[in-house]
Amino acid sequence: MKVLVLNSGSSSVKFQFYDTSLEAIKGGSEKQLAKGIVEKIGEKTSIRKIECNGKPPYKKEDPIADHTQAIRTIIDMLSDSEYGIIKDKTEIDAVGHRVVHGGETFTHSCLIDEKVYDKIKECIPLAPLHNPHNIKGYEISRDLLGKTPHVAVFDTAFHQTMAPSAFIYALPYDYYEKKRIRRYGFHGTSHRFVARRVGRLFNLAKDAFNVITAHLGNGASIAAVAKGKVVDTSMGFTPLEGLVMGTRCGDIDPAILMYLQENDGVNVAGLNKVLNKQSGLIGISGISNDMRELEKAAAENNARAKLAIDIFCYRIRKYIGAYAVAMGGVDFIVFTAGIGENSHIIRGEASKGLEAIGAKVDEAKNKSLNGKEGVFSTEDSKVKLCVIPTNEEILIAHDTVEAVSGLL
Ligand code: ADP
Repeated sequence: MKVLVLNSGSSSVKFQFYDTSLEAIKGGSEKQLAKGIVEKIGEKTSIRKIECNGKPPYKKEDPIADHTQAIRTIIDMLSDSEYGIIKDKTEIDAVGHRVVHGGETFTHSCLIDEKVYDKIKECIPLAPLHNPHNIKGYEISRDLLGKTPHVAVFDTAFHQTMAPSAFIYALPYDYYEKKRIRRYGFHGTSHRFVARRVGRLFNLAKDAFNVITAHLGNGASIAAVAKGKVVDTSMGFTPLEGLVMGTRCGDIDPAILMYLQENDGVNVAGLNKVLNKQSGLIGISGISNDMRELEKAAAENNARAKLAIDIFCYRIRKYIGAYAVAMGGVDFIVFTAGIGENSHIIRGEASKGLEAIGAKVDEAKNKSLNGKEGVFSTEDSKVKLCVIPTNEEILIAHDTVEAVSGLL
């Protein structure tokens, strides 16, 4: 089955194209046929890129007015006789869509029908910056592809197994009942992918181990997954809570917001900008939100770059300790995403002191793992420390095949 995976955002649409089947999913033999992006939609310098299996990459810069034109461009690129991979759009058997917020309604991926479509729209107030663009991607591809089935895969769904003790905030209960303010958690597809990969790598059933998964990219979150189910996760009502991120603050005392409003005259838009864009690694260091830049500056003894790295890693360690106890013990700790996969420095710092919960780092193994899958704990470590590159798109493709086959 040929599956198109679409990640439709505000100014870009990313895509991947897979040849997969239920058998291929089990055996890990699915094939990526193409990947690419249409970005800077609506600007004069929109960029379209595609790279198909065995063909030279293609890139062009010219205006792409809107999302409709962007998705049409993706289908045209896939069907191009020179650099494309299919004859025409009839070869697209199904489409999997990344949808950021599924609220409390969606606990797993599902085929999109009229009812599901309406329910996804009901989740817009929970993710006003994301869901409308995800929905647009569905609407346009549905109109372009006729009867092809479409599947929605939600960032929040995996976290729906949390107990009320983990997802309810200590606010007046009405806030949950009437306004649906609660912890939802995000990056669920990535946490699910790496947790599932642990089971496959170590030949364990998903209910046979506890794992803490640390997704450390520009956005960062950590999850406690006990016997295949999420017990807790660091992102909350929005992706602002929890770990320190590239430009987001993560956990802070909410009274700081009142203090700033009362004493500095900052309004809601100002607070939004500070907390989402000017905090985190860039806010502390004053240098960059890019961990590579900070590691370089720290090596040159820049005190604020060192401080940013220290705070980033300390917060991760603190969560790992808490989650180990929340799950009643941990067997694996996995690092993933841009920083988790590529930075032995951050993995090493974030793992300091984890001997207390039975996790011992082998520094040589840690250094050898950048960008690669593997274990970097010592032979006698009770808890295995791992690097597992994430692949949200492939899990969206798998879910799409399973949903279309009636298995979800
Ligand atoms: P996004 O959340 O945008 O998907 P990514 O998962 O791509 O983010 O991660 C981006 C982060 O990964 C950036 O902070 C970047 O500096 C960091 N990163 C990528 N490669 C390395 C590396 N070799 N060493 C340290 N950090 C890295």
